[in-house]
Amino acid sequence: MTNDSKRHQFDLFVIGGGSGGVRAARIAAGHGARVAIAEESRYGGTCVIRGCVPKKFLVYGSRFPDEFHDATGYGWTIGKTSFDWKTLIANKDREISRLEGLYRSNLEKAGVKTLAERATILGPHRVRLASGREITATTLLIATGGRPVMPGTIDGAAEHAIVSDDVFDLAELPRRTLIVGGGYIALEFAGILNGLGSKVTVVFRRKGLLYGFDDELATRLDAALQARGIEIRRERNLRSIARRGDGTRLVTLDEDSATIECDAVLMATGRAPNTSGLGLESIGINIGPLGRIPVDEFSRTEAEDVFAIGDVTDRMNLTPVAIREGHAFADSRYGNRPWIVDHANVPTAVFTTPELGTVGLTEAEAVERHGVVDVFRTEFRPMKSVLAGGEERMVMKLLVDVSTDRLLGAHLLGPDSAEMVQVVATLLRLGATKRQLDETMPLHPSAAEELVTIRTASVRRFRERNTLDIV
Ligand code: FAD
Repeated sequence: MTNDSKRHQFDLFVIGGGSGGVRAARIAAGHGARVAIAEESRYGGTCVIRGCVPKKFLVYGSRFPDEFHDATGYGWTIGKTSFDWKTLIANKDREISRLEGLYRSNLEKAGVKTLAERATILGPHRVRLASGREITATTLLIATGGRPVMPGTIDGAAEHAIVSDDVFDLAELPRRTLIVGGGYIALEFAGILNGLGSKVTVVFRRKGLLYGFDDELATRLDAALQARGIEIRRERNLRSIARRGDGTRLVTLDEDSATIECDAVLMATGRAPNTSGLGLESIGINIGPLGRIPVDEFSRTEAEDVFAIGDVTDRMNLTPVAIREGHAFADSRYGNRPWIVDHANVPTAVFTTPELGTVGLTEAEAVERHGVVDVFRTEFRPMKSVLAGGEERMVMKLLVDVSTDRLLGAHLLGPDSAEMVQVVATLLRLGATKRQLDETMPLHPSAAEELVTIRTASVRRFRERNTLDIV
């Protein structure tokens, strides 16, 4: 830190009041720093306002048809059901506003000066607020997050398509929705809208969904989503989107000019860091691909006394990661306790129905890095759906390094996978071995007991031979 803190109005100025920025500001203030934070939209950021939290409410809402269906197998008679989108959105909005208030009041309680306007960087130690006011601070922390990107190559996309932010405020549930993209955000919305009653088609340019996730589970999820009525068109691109007089959209695909008629087109093709117009050039920060800010393990940028955390650095775009990066920054800079965030073995979920939970290496990564890997897999019908007559299978897969017996990754598909994977993440962190899993007493009857009762590997994979050997 430079030695001129008394010359500035604040010790720390945080740009962006999302997951990472809020945590950093609160912890720094707790360590005695004089902190200000600026938020141009709503405190809470992407996760609270237009990401994880409202999405999970919609996911819960979308799963009730399954409950109604299953109930009949348990002797219940369910009367006529109906769904009202406006009620769900209004209830969601009320909770989001409550959380937003909480974020802001917690900052204020911690002694942080909160500002409700955009901030841009003017030069070293200097920011300008949208109102024109200038502020100086010893340290700047950039926590501006990311935003959905609308591809410029599709005619009519900017005018006639929506992005994930917009779904949370739609006036009505679209009768037919075309979703462009094969990543987790695209699929989560596909699951939500399908569950709530929209006819969903997913179009994406790759062969397989969920690039970067375990291939086998992604393929199983693909099949499960199709079985639930979601149409999936792979290796396709959009050429144009037109709006007709009655408000419906006519989408033309690139390759064979096939057309798809729908009521809403959701572009979920990627996100980009929020760095444009931020004034980074005034402090000599050169941005990386898509606009991300390069940082070292302590979240230091190439400019002195300027740090960046969260999605704007495009390291691992998840809320808990942004929060940890903010916390580590604040402890390191103001708490005399330097530490860095370990980005390995971060658990994550895809909140589709069925949901996917994943932690550690994928099968392909495990084999590539560890040479010889045992794949322990099991699949079964979740107990609850037995009486209900459901056909969906739960799939669990554990990857184990043959030379050390250590667990390398876990990939689950089915009910409560996210909840289970959170706990498995601790096992990975502790370096648990397969033997230790075998020694753990199962909890019966549960789905999770399968994690400690898979006795034999279904395949052993070798990097060198590139073969699949059945054990
Ligand atoms: P953000 O939370 O995006 O906060 C950045 C803030 O900075 C914003 O509020 C923005 O308005 C503000 N800002 C930007 N520029 C300025 C400026 N110049 N001046 C003032 N303010 C500015 N993650 C999970 O872990 N689990 C999930 O299930 C999950 N689901 C998601 C679902 C969706 C649909 C989306 C879009 C994201 C999801 N994420 C999820 C990702 C998660 O939301 C982000 O990783 C997280 O919010 C990143 O936090 P952040 O602090 O880096 O940025």
